[in-house]
Parts: sequence; C-alpha cells; structure tokens
Amino acid sequence: MYDCVIIGGGPAGLTAATYLGRFLRRTLLVDAGGGRAARIPRTHNLLGFPEGISGEELLLRMHQHAARYGAELVSGIVHNIARAETGFVVDMGARPVEARTLLLAQGVTNHQPRLAAEVHDHAVSRGLIRYCPVCDGFEVRGKSVAVLGCSDHGAAEARFIRRYSDTVALLTQEASQLSGSDEGDLVRSGIVVQRAPIHTLSVSDDAILASLVDGPSLRFDTLYVALGTSARSELARMAGAELSASGCIIVDEHQQTTIDGLFAAGDIVEGLDQIAVAAGQAAKAATAIHNRLSG
Ligand SMILES: Cc1cc2nc3c(=O)[nH]c(=O)nc-3n(C[C@H](O)[C@H](O)[C@H](O)COP(=O)(O)OP(=O)(O)OC[C@H]3O[C@@H](n4cnc5c(N)ncnc54)[C@H](O)[C@@H]3O)c2cc1C
Repeated sequence: MYDCVIIGGGPAGLTAATYLGRFLRRTLLVDAGGGRAARIPRTHNLLGFPEGISGEELLLRMHQHAARYGAELVSGIVHNIARAETGFVVDMGARPVEARTLLLAQGVTNHQPRLAAEVHDHAVSRGLIRYCPVCDGFEVRGKSVAVLGCSDHGAAEARFIRRYSDTVALLTQEASQLSGSDEGDLVRSGIVVQRAPIHTLSVSDDAILASLVDGPSLRFDTLYVALGTSARSELARMAGAELSASGCIIVDEHQQTTIDGLFAAGDIVEGLDQIAVAAGQAAKAATAIHNRLSG
C-alpha cells in the first residue's frame, strides 16, 4: 500500500514525488514519457537557469532529485483507476497497485499542424515551430512570425507576439472562425490576417514555408501553433471527477478534485500552462496529501 501514487512524470509529478519523499511518504510515480516538458528545446524562463536548460536535462535532474529522497519511479502507462475501501487501486497492466491517495499529473497534448511527425518534431527541436508565446516569445524578437489558428485563441497569441515583432501573420488550416470586426482589430494592430487556408506547410533548414490555397507562398522564421490542446483527463473522468468545459480537471485550493483523496496538478488543471505553475500546484498538492494522511 503506497501513501500516494503519482500518475505522470513531468515537472508536476516529479515535484510532488520529491516533496512526498521528503515528507517520508511511500510514493510511487508512474510515467509514460514524452510529455510536454520533454519537448522543450531550451527553456529560458525557469528561475535558477539564466543560461536556459533543455526539457530533457531538466527532467533528468528532477528525476534524480525525486529518487534521492526515496520516491519509486517507474516507466509505464496507467490504464485505469478505481476507488477502493482504503483508497484507490491503480491498474498498470501488471498486478494492480493500491494507494491511499492519488495525484494525477498527466498534462495535456497539443493539437499539431498537418505535417509528418518527424518533420514536426525536428522543427520543434530547432525552435522553428513553437507552442507557447508566454514561454518563448522573447526568443522571437524581431523575427517574422506566423500564428496558426484563426480563432480567438490564435488571435490572442498573435496580439501577444506583436509586442516582440513587427511582422506577425495569422494563418489558418480551415475556414477562419474570426468575425469581420475581430479581423479589423487585428489588422489595425499591425497583424496580417490570411483568410485563405494553408494548402501546404513545409519546413526548410531555417524557415517555415506556407503556401496558401489560391494565394502566395509565405516564408516565416517561426510558426506558433495555436490549435488548442486536449487534457489527458480520461482517468479522472472514469473515476467520476468533475471536469471543466475544456476537459481539464477541476480542483479546490488544495488541488483536490471533486473525489476525496484524488488530487491533480500541472497542465491537466485549468490555468497557465507553465513549469513554474505545475511545480507550485504540485507542492500544494503534496503538502495537502501529507497533511491528510497525518490527520
Ligand atoms: C515546445 C514547448 C515548449 C515549452 N516551453 C516552456 C518554457 O520555456 N517554460 C515553461 O514554463 N513551460 C514551457 N512549456 C510548457 C511546459 O512544458 C508545461 O507547462 C509542463 O511540461 C507541464 O508539466 P506537467 O507535469 O503538467 O505535464 P507534462 O510535462 O506534459 O508531463 C505529463 C507526463 O504524464 C505522463 N502521462 C500521461 N498519461 C499517463 C498515464 N496514463 N500513465 C502514465 N503516465 C502518463 C506523460 O507521458 C508525461 O510524461 C513548453 C511546452 C512545449 C510543448
């Protein structure tokens, strides 16, 4: 019987594992790998790393940190969770594991543009394709930037990036969802709105190339993808926890879901999707879990 099983080994899960280990709690963390943090080429907004650090290196260090204080860290996929008399039963494919509490830290997945997976991943690793202006808008200062997604979300990202660049265009893969007045506002703030959908998107050594249906071929230094995310909240849903309209998990001020003893932290919870936020929520959740088990 574990005090806590953590599902997901990104910044949220690994922070909670370190805290719980230091609280002398018997903790198991199960991680399938390949989360959002693992995709970060180099983050520059994480305090303590003024020269930046890659997502992989950060996760390696966080892994070592959690292991040092006794958390058990295993690779695997959790397929199901169920409530039991003493807490929860976790199905990882082999023998079921029992835990007094659970922390869900499974993150979200980004909706990707129509590109072959290896082309896409290589472009992300070189910063040609990006997903988070709050994270790395600073790095595209003065570059020509496209934002993919003619929606409210895409429009907000384009406005955010406009502060860093005079050359910002909004592109779409489908018909634009923006109203005429939204478009007018964007154009007045210096953003070029391309209504014609992209016919072909490709990546060269140092640029993103977008040829539009019945339109010109355009070249950009960077493409921000603003096509939305899907929360990996299927386990929470199966357990009966309440979700927001966007599919994220609803939690209270201690990160507890609407199910007693089931906690959640990181991108999977509605809010600003950042490493610092994920770690902060995980610290709160781990402390609440410890206090609950002590009480
Ligand atoms: C390209 C890119 C660049 C970014 N740059 C920055 C940046 O510079 N600064 C910043 O603060 N943020 C950045 N972010 C955002 C940051 O990556 C996320 O906010 C952060 O990773 C959230 O941490 P998390 O632990 O909630 O989720 P994740 O890092 O996504 O980790 C979730 C983990 O849960 C695992 N998991 C899911 N389901 C299961 C299951 N059923 N069983 C077992 N394991 C499971 C996944 O495999 C994954 O390993 C960036 C994101 C991207 C995509």
